[in-house]
Amino acid sequence: MSALPGAPHIAWRGHQLFVEGQSADALAREHGTPLYVYSRGAMLGALAAYQRALTGRQHLICYAMKANSTLAVLQTFAQAGCGFDIVSVGELERVLAAGGDASRVLFSGVGKRPDEMRRALEAGIKCFNVESVAELRTLSGVAQAMNRRAPVSLRINPDVDAGTHPYISTGLKGNKFGIAHDEALAAYRIAASLPGLEVAGIDCHIGSQITQLGPHLDALERLLDLIEALEAEGIAIRHIDVGGGLGITYTDEAPPDAGALVRQLCARIDARGHGARELLFEPGRSLVGNAGVLLTEVLVLKPGSVKNFCIVDAAMNDLLRPTLYDATMGIVPCTLRDGAPVLYDVVGPVCESGDWLGRDRALAVLPGDRLAILSAGAYAFAMASNYNSRPRAAEVMVEGDRAFVIREREKVAALFSNERLIDR
Ligand SMILES: *Cc1c(COP(=O)(O)O)cnc(C)c1O
Repeated sequence: MSALPGAPHIAWRGHQLFVEGQSADALAREHGTPLYVYSRGAMLGALAAYQRALTGRQHLICYAMKANSTLAVLQTFAQAGCGFDIVSVGELERVLAAGGDASRVLFSGVGKRPDEMRRALEAGIKCFNVESVAELRTLSGVAQAMNRRAPVSLRINPDVDAGTHPYISTGLKGNKFGIAHDEALAAYRIAASLPGLEVAGIDCHIGSQITQLGPHLDALERLLDLIEALEAEGIAIRHIDVGGGLGITYTDEAPPDAGALVRQLCARIDARGHGARELLFEPGRSLVGNAGVLLTEVLVLKPGSVKNFCIVDAAMNDLLRPTLYDATMGIVPCTLRDGAPVLYDVVGPVCESGDWLGRDRALAVLPGDRLAILSAGAYAFAMASNYNSRPRAAEVMVEGDRAFVIREREKVAALFSNERLIDR
């Protein structure tokens, strides 16, 4: 058995790709394609890497559920003691529907509506991560009208370069995210003075798919500087939330593992005498990314004078990352066959030149074969759309030899069931 990069639960057994105890081809035959398949063991293993390194320290891991918000994924993490980082009230309702605990929920995001704030207060979430002074004032008003005090943390923009794709870099001065480091003290003074708020912590989140430790450590030092300045003024900070952003291996990236990240951060925190403070993490991609594959069937091979195309039944509506971020994701056959590989662009049937899944891939395939697109557990199904009136794919969770359908394939009729013809 040989495992795929970053994914010990997804491995070759001879010529066949397996997700835990289930062959990818058999799953595709039974459930159809395109099909998302997840390894429950891989998800729990990724969470355990954080948990192990945090043992003995007051902490909370809040899964950034926008990476993959399917109920059974949330249920898996909730049952393992995980909290959640949400960015909308829709995500809060999902947490509750999956059996998650509101008191372990952080509410992030640059723009929250007052009705969302009300619902989150009513549910009793742990903390609002606030990103502007205007939002502090709105939240205070909402909480006061409910006779409550909203627990808040300010998301600081530490102005560090995470060295990642511009669309997923969030900790630089030019980004829409967070409160500038040099405006943070003034913002905290306002937060402390507003009657509907209670200062609880401080947070940052500098980007996604970060493959180095340096940016995380730099951001942490800037948070600790601020905590010291705030406490000198009498504004107490209970928790430090260092955000998410740890990268995964898609092809040849070599990010630090979660344990190494946690240990290094904790060493800095302890060295500066802040070890007793509760420590929060908001990992998304690193908990689910390598736990999933997207299975798709080869429809047509279309040779060309400049390029050969391998046209498959998954498309950009199922997996947006390649065209949105210019992302490279591994693509392998579900069953290896003999024969000389040919270079293909792997593309979907959607009417857009941006509808590609992989470029210049050496594959020995025939129509009817199935391919697995790797590391598709994060920002994959969660970004799926119905563009071209394509129903969204089914999702299956594998646990050992068992496979559970955790989302049925969307039915075409459901795509327009809430539309109305004009009555005339
Ligand atoms: C997206 C997001 C995360 C998770 O980022 P990953 O790169 O998936 O770990 C954490 N916190 C906030 C505020 C986010 O927006």
